[in-house]
Amino acid sequence: CGIFAYLNYNVNKERRYILQVLFNGLRRLEYRGYDSAGVSIDSSSSDSSSSSSSQNYIFCPPPLVFRREGNIESLVKSVYQEVSETDLNLEESFSIHAGIAHTRWATHGEPAPRNSHPQSSGDGNEFLVVHNGVITNYEVLKETLVRHGFTFESETDTEVIPKLAKFVFDKANEEDDQTVTFSQVVLEVMRHLEGAYALIFKSRHYPNELIACKRGSPLLLGVKELMEGRSNGSAFHDEKFLSKNDFPKELFLSSDANALVEHTKKVLVIEDGEVVHLKDGGVSILKFDDDKGKHGRSLSRPAS
Ligand code: GLU
Repeated sequence: CGIFAYLNYNVNKERRYILQVLFNGLRRLEYRGYDSAGVSIDSSSSDSSSSSSSQNYIFCPPPLVFRREGNIESLVKSVYQEVSETDLNLEESFSIHAGIAHTRWATHGEPAPRNSHPQSSGDGNEFLVVHNGVITNYEVLKETLVRHGFTFESETDTEVIPKLAKFVFDKANEEDDQTVTFSQVVLEVMRHLEGAYALIFKSRHYPNELIACKRGSPLLLGVKELMEGRSNGSAFHDEKFLSKNDFPKELFLSSDANALVEHTKKVLVIEDGEVVHLKDGGVSILKFDDDKGKHGRSLSRPAS
């Protein structure tokens, strides 16, 4: 019932800190209801220059996924346990890292680890999705995907979304479109979804990027610039602020502002049909439009 993401850009953060930010985000969203929780983080630093989105089949290591039935604290406990049992190190630091997290209030499928989010496209976690809402046409989508050879492990409506993303991505690559972007994949996925949703996508094919979109469920973006004097406090009046740049920053996505206020006052409410792409330190916002295709948002709208 709540989604949260944290992306640090050009600023070193340890795995321990990244997990703390994600868990605190979930704690702030817990009031929205929960029966399970989950989180996905990177397994090791992936150098974005050696694994760019134009080389889609150069994999970075698969993202790690931790999911658990019950409250946030039981997830927290099990993650720290599992992390220390593997060769992962809480002190490992990342100059760029994209993590996603979820508290679930089940609508389809009982509370269980397999039904918790992030939901996955399958082995290797090529696409991962956290979802708040309900996909009303999931049965039809599921049938189609099963016919294309996908196997499902959960009873959720959500699982069709990462599988659809993989289907779209594979199809583009079969057609030799090695340059299909993360936002193109997500826009194509949205074209097929009916119902209410706020979604965050993470993908092994697009390391260090996140995409969020929404229709009907709430979603906010928070931006924390770590360069003094860079911004005059009205971030979203400044078009340059949203363009690609190398300034260190931390970016947040959340279902609710109360998970953002401890980090930043620069919060933008995402509107229905908008697609937020976090990449290379920049934020671009595309508008999904059923009839007219897509066009960018006018960036002059003041931050709320
Ligand atoms: N419909 C999804 C599920 O049952 C998401 C529920 C939620 O918003 O937490 O898994």
